Amino acid sequence: MVRVVANARGCIGAGQCVITAPNVFDQDEDGIVVVVDEQPSEADLPDVRAALDLCPSQSLTLTN
Ligand code: SF4
Repeated sequence: MVRVVANARGCIGAGQCVITAPNVFDQDEDGIVVVVDEQPSEADLPDVRAALDLCPSQSLTLTN
C-alpha cells in the first residue's frame, strides 16, 4: 500500500494538489497542504501522481 507524504514546510500553498486530487489533498487556513487520505485507493493514484508532477515546490512524495 503506497502512502502519500507532504512536506508542509516546502509547500507554497499553490493549491495544484487540491485541484488535481481533491479526494486526497486539502489546504489549511493558511493554504498549506493537508493530506486527508494518506493511503489513497488505486482509483485515486493517477490523480495523486499528477499532483506530484504539478506541485511547484515538489513537496509531495509517494512511499511504499
Ligand atoms: S501543490 Fe504543492 S505547493 Fe501547492 S498546495 Fe499542494 S503541496 Fe503545497
